[in-house]
Amino acid sequence: MLMSDELLTLLFVFCHDLMNYFCTRMEKTIEEKVNAGVMLPLMEEFYTIQGEGFHTGTAAYFIRVGGCDVGCHWCDVKESWNAETHPPTHIDQIVDHAAKWSKTIVITGGEPLTWNMQPLTSALKDRGMSVHIETSGAYELSGTWDWFCLSPKKMKMPVAAAYKRADELKVIVFNKHDFAFAKAESQKVSSNCQLFLQPEWSVREKMIPLITEFVMENPEWRVSLQTHKYLNIP
Ligand code: SF4
Repeated sequence: MLMSDELLTLLFVFCHDLMNYFCTRMEKTIEEKVNAGVMLPLMEEFYTIQGEGFHTGTAAYFIRVGGCDVGCHWCDVKESWNAETHPPTHIDQIVDHAAKWSKTIVITGGEPLTWNMQPLTSALKDRGMSVHIETSGAYELSGTWDWFCLSPKKMKMPVAAAYKRADELKVIVFNKHDFAFAKAESQKVSSNCQLFLQPEWSVREKMIPLITEFVMENPEWRVSLQTHKYLNIP
């Protein structure tokens, strides 16, 4: 028996609404999982050499999480800023991938502390991995860290807990005013925090002589270079 046009229309509307309902439910579930840190917007993951700071030259697996609204104008990973452009990925998958490559994991971004890092770091540590973070410290702390690299940004200053937790303070030097900023920031971290000055890549030729001079005058600081860029690796 042929269905009337009216019945067909009703059926179409019903199926359409049902699909919308399930899509919305699915989106909501994903959103809830991302908010809980069980899924994270994963931008990229790769095994490489840590190019910067205290652990320069050591092999590590990098997990780059999307999402950052700090807004550094010289940021070299601007494509990380919009979390919605990076697929929500379950942390079990992220941990399984990482476990195949290294015992040292660096979580970077974007700004990883945009998200709840406790589920991911706990899962990595349960598998015996040493977990490092690179953060601006601008958000509430979450996660369990073996190494906490704080790279403060003037646009959105770190929270007090980030200074307290920092194992390493890495200040990016874009212009000469950043030396005064670095000195002021070093007053906020603990006495055993390692201090690094790193030239922003696009102005490195101009800034390296100034950093060299500063470090010779202030030997509690060390020079950090983005050696991965010299090595032409990620
Ligand atoms: Fe880029 Fe990091 Fe600054 Fe965010 S905090 S804008 S990811 S440099």
